Amino acid sequence: MRIDVVTIFPGYFDALELSLMGKARDRGFIDLRVHDLRDSAHDKHRTVDDTPTGGGAGMVMKPEPWSVALDGILGDAQADADPLIIFPSPAGEVFTQSMARELSSESHLIFGCGRYEGIDQRVFDEYSERGRVRLVSIGDYVLNGGEVASIAMIEAIGRLIPGVVGNPESLVEESHEDGLLEYPSYTKPAEWRGRRVPDVLLSGNHAAISAWRHEQSVERTRRVRPELLGD
Ligand code: SAM
Repeated sequence: MRIDVVTIFPGYFDALELSLMGKARDRGFIDLRVHDLRDSAHDKHRTVDDTPTGGGAGMVMKPEPWSVALDGILGDAQADADPLIIFPSPAGEVFTQSMARELSSESHLIFGCGRYEGIDQRVFDEYSERGRVRLVSIGDYVLNGGEVASIAMIEAIGRLIPGVVGNPESLVEESHEDGLLEYPSYTKPAEWRGRRVPDVLLSGNHAAISAWRHEQSVERTRRVRPELLGD
């Protein structure tokens, strides 16, 4: 999968050189290209923001640098790629595990990281008319910029690309995959500080273990996130 990111803080994305995402890039599963939006601003100060039209607090990202950056990326995309542009936004649809799974089969994603009060609306309108655009929120809170939201989405999407996670079975039993939160996990030793691992997990009875884990998942979901069960 090719992933382009447009940001005024490219350094944030150094985090994606680490761990599983770093390996996924080294092994060619993810081709991540990070672009500094300021390189697309052609005035002396490399300006990317201006005051809000109509008044109000803060600054808004200007459309011109965005069009230079996005046109450059789209112009360089593979002819058959049909890239999807994702603008992280607290005003967007909420990112979920099922959206991550859906997006993991895309061939080319472009993340446009807003800052300040966000990006001039005409950028969304222009690129929605020309291609595929989604505004996506990672939750009901406000971050300073789209970088952390993009990293969260890239990691959630990237680990679902076939081959990225060594044992695909480990992806199946996770929280949100089946609409439930995951059951509690334990490892060795069987007893630690007087706390014993539940006996059933030491029984070797796989049917009983499976039933216990399902029960725990349902109980935890009911307690922590009852709305997932429709309660
Ligand atoms: N004025 C905007 C609003 O109220 O909708 C918030 C702007 S926020 C300070 C700056 C940028 O952070 C946004 O353009 C977006 O890229 C990013 N951002 C903030 N919260 C986010 C969230 N919950 N999910 C995704 N992106 C977010």
